Amino acid sequence: VLFIAGMGRSGSTLLDRLLGACDGICAVGELRSIWRLGFIEDQYCGCGERFSACPFWRDVVIEALGDPSTVDAARLDREQEDLLRLRNLPGIIGGAPSPARRAVACRAFRDLHARLYRAIRNVSGARVVADSSKNPVYGLLLRGTPGIELRTVHLVRDSRAVVASLARPARDPAVEGRRAYRYQRGAAVGSVNWLAMNALTAAIFPRGPKTVRLRYEDVAADPRRAVRRVLRLLGEGGAPPAPRTDGTFDLGVQHTLAGNPMRMEQGPIAIRVDERWREELAPGARALTTALTWPLLLRYGYRLRTR
Ligand SMILES: [Zn+2]
Repeated sequence: VLFIAGMGRSGSTLLDRLLGACDGICAVGELRSIWRLGFIEDQYCGCGERFSACPFWRDVVIEALGDPSTVDAARLDREQEDLLRLRNLPGIIGGAPSPARRAVACRAFRDLHARLYRAIRNVSGARVVADSSKNPVYGLLLRGTPGIELRTVHLVRDSRAVVASLARPARDPAVEGRRAYRYQRGAAVGSVNWLAMNALTAAIFPRGPKTVRLRYEDVAADPRRAVRRVLRLLGEGGAPPAPRTDGTFDLGVQHTLAGNPMRMEQGPIAIRVDERWREELAPGARALTTALTWPLLLRYGYRLRTR
């Protein structure tokens, strides 16, 4: 399993799609969303079908869980999201006394995910499953799962871009109903989340033989170079997707759950760095975000001055 970890709005959908276009890799988007967006809300898969009508997910569910109508998705979603709360982290890492019911919940999560990934591998025929669920606690649980060989990409993006994205009422055409408009958050809350998620991800997944750190901006500027780095991490021989003569990419169709609207795009896709934040972010929000996040911005090689 290749796990993409880090803060939301960091460009994981782009990386996910690039990887899914490589031989031997099956990109599933955010598997964490399978219970709520898949089973409960029956939202759209990246292939354009509803989750319940997508032949890929139907086969995966039947192999991993049996008859889809017997799956208690509300309970599985509740148990998963309870387990992913940060207060559980010390117990999952070990050392802190762990109540018996949390140990049971960890075992249940790992058993369920081992079955899901095995089914995804069997149905897709891929050797690697790419999951961009991002939550580092989720990744930590996967790391301790028997049968899963885990590699991780810590994906980072300029905090000012993330804060501008959080402030944007992004309409996701693939998601209907109350979730159509994604949550909006202010610069201070966004900055603190950005710091916390990236610091936690780096603490759980320090760079080494099993983890690389990639910047979204580098992925978008040179997609093939970034994908080659991930292929090396995976020990996979294949080649990154080749651009067409006009520089666009044809990334095929992937059965991805959740992510930004780019996951539904088919046909030639132009990949360029999204720098809308330079126009959109008000000077006050920009200064506040820089002031709160500068230590990690510097560590990741970003410039503090933005003009
Ligand atoms: Zn599908």
